[in-house]
Amino acid sequence: MIVALKPDTADEKQNQLVDWLKGMGLGVHISKGEYQTVLGLIGDTGKVDMELIASLDIVESVSRVTETFKCCNRKFHPDDTVITVGDAKIGGGSFCLIAGPCSVETEEQIVAVAKAVKQSGANMLRGGAFKPRTSPYDFQGLKATGIELLKIARQETGLPIVTEIMSASDLELFADVDVLQVGARNMQNFDLLRELGHTDKPILLKRGLANTLKELLMSAEYIMASGNENVILCERGIRTYSDYLRNTLDLSAVPMLHELSHLPVIVDPSHATGIARMVPPMALAAVAAGADGLIVEVHNDPLHALCDGAQSLKPEEYDSLVRKINAVREAIK
Ligand code: PEP
Ligand code: MN
Repeated sequence: MIVALKPDTADEKQNQLVDWLKGMGLGVHISKGEYQTVLGLIGDTGKVDMELIASLDIVESVSRVTETFKCCNRKFHPDDTVITVGDAKIGGGSFCLIAGPCSVETEEQIVAVAKAVKQSGANMLRGGAFKPRTSPYDFQGLKATGIELLKIARQETGLPIVTEIMSASDLELFADVDVLQVGARNMQNFDLLRELGHTDKPILLKRGLANTLKELLMSAEYIMASGNENVILCERGIRTYSDYLRNTLDLSAVPMLHELSHLPVIVDPSHATGIARMVPPMALAAVAAGADGLIVEVHNDPLHALCDGAQSLKPEEYDSLVRKINAVREAIK
């Protein structure tokens, strides 16, 4: 249930109402917007007398939220959520470029790529240390060592680091990581989502290979309902009947997620297409569709990459892409 308060409601009166609602055993999510405060009621709202609340002098309107996702629902929080990571901001008009290799391989590699993408204008460095590979015989990532190498690259460049967590039992190793990625394959690992909800780290939540937008939002809800509201949604392509491409990039997800939710939405054109030359056009299309950021795989030697070389841009290709991204952003302002 949503209770929209009248503009200029005194804090004291608002607090009295919140205390009264909490006294009925409800959770109250307070969203203080620029013009209006909205109270989102979570729990068994069946026993709440809507008419009584609507009659209070500080209440402008009361409505029921029919969707099962509450905390990430735009109705609960009309303004865009802006997530701050170091100097980078994502959402609400702030655009964020995340770039780096699929996997951290060596110190030389990650530092070289970090320096190159920073030079091009990237705001954060990505790099997988724990890799969810389809085959158990493929490179599984450098794990804890990979995280240490990411920290070295952060020290060298100042770029915040983004890396995937596959299991809650590894959380301690991620204590000094800036953004935790939940990969497509773990989008519905509910125990992991709940544990991440107990941290205060921004979570980059990727859409599963065959998951709907509602399922993605329900996964965000798991994290948020456990107390962590810093969730970034990521469209990374879904399984359809595409044959020449790794996945199908569902760009219509971007405006639809923006309509349904206040959370920032970024796009990963690398995993969506699987082919380096397909990445720039889809990245630009994502920007035009209103994405709040892009996560792009960049490798200094894609031919010898231990993972996802075929979809990785070379640093000079990324540099040229960023110029075009800036031009598209300017054009759609
Ligand atoms: C990745 O970012 O390297 C990755 C494995 O992504 P996804 O979970 O989208 O496949
Ligand atoms: Mn990858």
